[in-house]
Amino acid sequence: MDSTVGSTGSGVSRTLRDALGALAGTKQLLVALDFDGTLAPVVDEPAKARALPEARAAVERLIALPATRVAFVSGRALDSLEEVSKASDDTLLVGSHGVEVRLDSPDDVFTLDEEEQARLGLLGDVLDQVADNVDEVWLESKPAGFALHTRLATDHDSRVAHLVALSEARAEVNDVTVRKGKDVLEFSVRSTTKGEAVEHLRRYTGATAVFYAGDDVTDEDAFESLRSDDLALKIGPGVTVADYRVDGPEEVAHVLSLLADLRAAAAGERPQSN
Ligand SMILES: [Mg+2]
Repeated sequence: MDSTVGSTGSGVSRTLRDALGALAGTKQLLVALDFDGTLAPVVDEPAKARALPEARAAVERLIALPATRVAFVSGRALDSLEEVSKASDDTLLVGSHGVEVRLDSPDDVFTLDEEEQARLGLLGDVLDQVADNVDEVWLESKPAGFALHTRLATDHDSRVAHLVALSEARAEVNDVTVRKGKDVLEFSVRSTTKGEAVEHLRRYTGATAVFYAGDDVTDEDAFESLRSDDLALKIGPGVTVADYRVDGPEEVAHVLSLLADLRAAAAGERPQSN
């Protein structure tokens, strides 16, 4: 864990502060953020998750700065992400780990082909049975798959549900991608990762550097896509390839607020290109 040198009073470590300072000077910045566990504390009812007010304020300041774009990159279905994040129209949104994207124009429409739809139907039948047979396990429908939630189940029931769901889905359905998150197994008939999503956003925005923050296993794909001028921030415990780590959403809000300050200062010193 980074030592915290409280020179800003916000508990952001000196090394992280220096790295943010370097990042803030880049020509075109992309700030890509996971939502749950990063901007918003994790809650038992996913529909009730909300970004911390300080995080929201920092995001809005970043969006208003020149040559700076903000994206939310989530495992949630896009409509669920829109609902809980209350994102403004100029926030770029990526849902379902990159399967669904909302950029600046609504021409990027998501559809499954017939073969994918057939596999999706079969997958739903298999997983419905698992959810029906284990207490406190429920299935969330996503555009290209399903999330099997076990947050409220006992450890034993959770393990059983995961094992049965995995073996049945793999036995019954071809080409299923499975991701393991916190108390959730995600099954998809189309494979994309947050890493591919970040690459897509990097090209789309013409970013010369990327800031990415996330707390879950699936965020590691995004961290791995980053380059030497980028900054990876891991939230909470767990193995990571990210160079920096903070404890939780409150610290993320401090970091984003500091990044907005530094970016605003750098913009003041930089000739305006647009
Ligand atoms: Mg998360």
